[in-house]
Amino acid sequence: MKIPFNPIERAKIVEEIVMEDNKRKYYRFRFAPYYLGIVTADTVGCCFLCAYCWNYFRNLNPEKFGEFYSSEEVSRIMIKIANKKNCTKFRISGAEPILGKNSFYHLLKILDLIKEKFKEFEFIIETNGLILGYYSELIKELRPYKNSIFVRISIKGWDEDSFEKISGADRKYFVYTIEALKKLKENEIVAWPAVMYEIFGENGLRKIKERLRKENIETDIEVEYLEKYSFVEGNLRKRGLFFS
Ligand code: SF4
Repeated sequence: MKIPFNPIERAKIVEEIVMEDNKRKYYRFRFAPYYLGIVTADTVGCCFLCAYCWNYFRNLNPEKFGEFYSSEEVSRIMIKIANKKNCTKFRISGAEPILGKNSFYHLLKILDLIKEKFKEFEFIIETNGLILGYYSELIKELRPYKNSIFVRISIKGWDEDSFEKISGADRKYFVYTIEALKKLKENEIVAWPAVMYEIFGENGLRKIKERLRKENIETDIEVEYLEKYSFVEGNLRKRGLFFS
């Protein structure tokens, strides 16, 4: 895979691979310990290819992994796990849930179906923010769900240069991940940025805080910590990145 790449083009290509009509590829459904317990559907396919992605190989070759599931099938499995675990928190993990309109509407349908079963629930949309920022008109379609959704945007850099190294995507697309955060807040949807501490370090953290302040985005930043799989260090080195 040639780096840097155009992530909008990559999103289109990957969405073609991981979506078939209303069905998307998933490789696992589980109850995960994060967020004090959350029903999780693990999918494949991302518009970025982050050096530290814990699902790097599945996202590099999404055609090789997973099976197609409709929104109805996904929600049925998730609801079953939720009932068994007495849990009303949900998320899609493993890759980027929003690659374009097709995957976006697949996600909305899952939300609708969960809403039919649970009067109150929380759905954490874990995203890199690119598609929501680039096609920001999609954000208003999230408004009817605003009491149940929480959007966590994983920011892949503190500036254009670090973004390109970390995500593999062309530096000029960094701005859209910030734009997503801004537009979600304007639409009164709960959203916050998350950053990887070992990559950002104190310097990167300070710089992203400054950048968000310049953009008039008032927010707390979630700091996450790296799962140091053996391949991660090599990937980071190839991109000229090091642990802070
Ligand atoms: S945005 Fe997330 S899922 Fe996509 S490559 Fe990066 S770490 Fe992996």
